[in-house]
Amino acid sequence: MPSVGFRDIPAIPGAYALVIGLAGGLAFELRGRQVALVPGAYLYCGSAHGPGGIAARVGRHARRRKKRHWHVDHLTAAGRLAAIYALPGGSECALVEQALALDGVGVPIRGFGASDCRSCAAHLLSLPEKSAPAGWPRLFGDSAGSWHFAG
Ligand SMILES: [Zn+2]
Repeated sequence: MPSVGFRDIPAIPGAYALVIGLAGGLAFELRGRQVALVPGAYLYCGSAHGPGGIAARVGRHARRRKKRHWHVDHLTAAGRLAAIYALPGGSECALVEQALALDGVGVPIRGFGASDCRSCAAHLLSLPEKSAPAGWPRLFGDSAGSWHFAG
């Protein structure tokens, strides 16, 4: 985990998005059904309203060893955290909507991470196959702060 780069992530409530790279496929159980993800880059959108805000939540996501609590823990345990976006005061559903408007962004597993959400197809999106880390800063334009980690 690139701890130095985590320093400036805001410790206040808001929304965040993670780019997670999966080098291999991943299969796991989601609410009683078997689901699978192919290798590629994924975008997970979440919100943090607890103590420590976005910084605390993102720090948890970045730890590989943890009790699996959220769907996304399957990805953060197996994959590589490539980028973080933080939007203090923002909503994860707005991030999902913004990302889905981009070419080639899809919904790999309906309902993933969105059990409590009535508006989104999922809070996990797949990024275009050919998308490169160089293109990720533009995912949310200037509206969100972003941190990128070299592989
Ligand atoms: Zn939503």
